[in-house]
Amino acid sequence: MKVFIVNCGSSSIKYQLVDMETENVLAKGLVERIGLPGAVLTHTPVGRDKVVTEAEIPDHSTGISMVLNALTDAEHGVISSLRDIDAVGHRVAHGGERFTDSVLITADVVKGIEACVEMAPLHNPAALLGIKACKSLIEHAPQVAVFDTAFHQTMPKQAYLYGLPYELYEKYGVRRYGFHGTSHKYVAQRAAEMMGKHMTDLRIVTCHLGNGASVTAIKNGKSIDTSMGFTPLAGLVMGTRSGEIDPAIIPFLMVKENMTIQEVDDYLNKKSGVLGISGLSSDFRDLEEAASKGDERSQLAIDIFAYRVKKFIGSYVAAMGGVDAIVFTAGLGENSAFMREKICNGLEFLGTRIDEAKNNVRGKETEISADGSKVKLFMIPTNEEIVIARDTKAICAPLVPAK
Ligand code: AMP
Repeated sequence: MKVFIVNCGSSSIKYQLVDMETENVLAKGLVERIGLPGAVLTHTPVGRDKVVTEAEIPDHSTGISMVLNALTDAEHGVISSLRDIDAVGHRVAHGGERFTDSVLITADVVKGIEACVEMAPLHNPAALLGIKACKSLIEHAPQVAVFDTAFHQTMPKQAYLYGLPYELYEKYGVRRYGFHGTSHKYVAQRAAEMMGKHMTDLRIVTCHLGNGASVTAIKNGKSIDTSMGFTPLAGLVMGTRSGEIDPAIIPFLMVKENMTIQEVDDYLNKKSGVLGISGLSSDFRDLEEAASKGDERSQLAIDIFAYRVKKFIGSYVAAMGGVDAIVFTAGLGENSAFMREKICNGLEFLGTRIDEAKNNVRGKETEISADGSKVKLFMIPTNEEIVIARDTKAICAPLVPAK
């Protein structure tokens, strides 16, 4: 079975075509700047050179159509006909309370995703455009939605409700949903496998540290708490997002800086985080370099970020009554030995001991704790695509005619 994985952003489409017999990626790529000048498709048939095509790409449907042409192209393609695509798996940001697992997309499921648009106004509409485009261009292929929120639907009420009037939850679904669920689930499963245990017997803290960042407490295989909330603005200090702040700062800002609510929203989402603190960059590579040359605010941004992650780890260990493993993943978690060490320093009271030499690793899943460390530490590159592909295969296998 060949599964086409689609991840639509507001102006981008990431994709992969995976052969599920081997789980090998046949081709992958990215459409960028949809609806903007300078739109471009970068298509990579795995093992061959990438092909960059600049074109006018006014909408997602045109983008998907270009991707499908690239996949079947005589020169750069990896399949001879669209009929070779057996199923499509879509990453969908928000599934609200309705979607607790991946599902086959039907007209009713589309309505359910539409109902969550209000809570993910940038992301869910893009996913819906991708679903619509695939439905019309590869009609024969069943489609599956894999939700970023689904894994966290196991959180108990005490973790997901805010200290707000209960009617807000009943009327509008105002509660913690959490995001990056597919990533947290994947790395926790891998950590359990690397320990030779079942996830259901473990307490794991997973740290997804990328431009967007979140920490999750996974007890006996279930997410019981996570740092992102009603939206992905909550929790950790991130690249450009503030994370947790005193909500009273919002009206204060509106008065003092004469900002509209939209301007405050922009400020907290796009101009805050380590970018706002450092005044330099949202990218930790820039911050680490500037800090090493003595830039104090870059150092401060790094310190605040690591401190916040450490506090979340500590609180989740308390919530689970202990911890067996801590996992680092995503751009920063996978690539920065410095940040992993900084976060782990001071956590020895939990029974963790990082091994400096083992921690000096990139690109390959590795146990980074010292021999004899009671709590295991791992760096595990995330692979949300493979989770989407596996869920899609599992759901669609009975629907796909044998070839
Ligand atoms: P992601 O959102 O998972 O793609 O992560 C992107 C972020 O990872 C970038 O903005 C950087 O802050 C961080 N990152 C990637 N590579 C490195 C690196 N070698 N050292 C430090 N940070 C990195």
